[in-house]
Amino acid sequence: MTNCVWCQQAFQPRVTLRDILTWRPLPVPPLCTRCQDKFTPITAQHCPACGRQQETIAVCHDCERWGTAALRNRALFRYDAGMKAYMQQYKFQGDYALRKALQAPLQQALEQENYDVLVPIPIDQQTWLTRGFNQVTGWLRGQPYQQALVVRATHKDQPQSAKTRAQRLLTPQPFQLDPRIASDLVNQRVLLLDDVYTTGRTLRHAATQIYLGGAKAVTSLTLAR
Ligand SMILES: [Zn+2]
Ligand SMILES: [Zn+2]
Repeated sequence: MTNCVWCQQAFQPRVTLRDILTWRPLPVPPLCTRCQDKFTPITAQHCPACGRQQETIAVCHDCERWGTAALRNRALFRYDAGMKAYMQQYKFQGDYALRKALQAPLQQALEQENYDVLVPIPIDQQTWLTRGFNQVTGWLRGQPYQQALVVRATHKDQPQSAKTRAQRLLTPQPFQLDPRIASDLVNQRVLLLDDVYTTGRTLRHAATQIYLGGAKAVTSLTLAR
């Protein structure tokens, strides 16, 4: 028996024949099946620019309208009620144990991506003080990354949720390159990693800075869309 990191209930992990035949210590799943089922994976039919689930593989209306069609983002799960509840508890209540819930799917997704340097979206000083961890790097299990971006010190802003969509798209560049790491980006394929794709604004600003650092390609991966 093991305890689910989300609901705390004890559960019996499922053991498959392959687990038995590999003769290795069994991986302990972090979530019970009921909590696992709260996440909805995004399937092959998604917008190639923002990663949203849809019926076709064409660029979606939002991406065309908001000029984000040139980006290429992949998202793992839908940002639905289950994912919102998860993010609420992990990020805003600071439940650090919940990072384990999405480490395995992220690892699988990273193994399928072609990139040289992984760059997580940073959090600002205020968030460090209140949350104490970067929710994005919490999902990594030792995969190498470069914290090439830092949040500008002068970046004092209203929360995203307090703004209209148009205001959000107009907000100024929140990031700058860390000069100690910038040279590592020259001629590299960079993969940005973030939690939720909402308008694409954050990733677009981040990509602009990474390109200024000399990267030859920038794509992104988010846990939710
Ligand atoms: Zn559970
Ligand atoms: Zn799209």
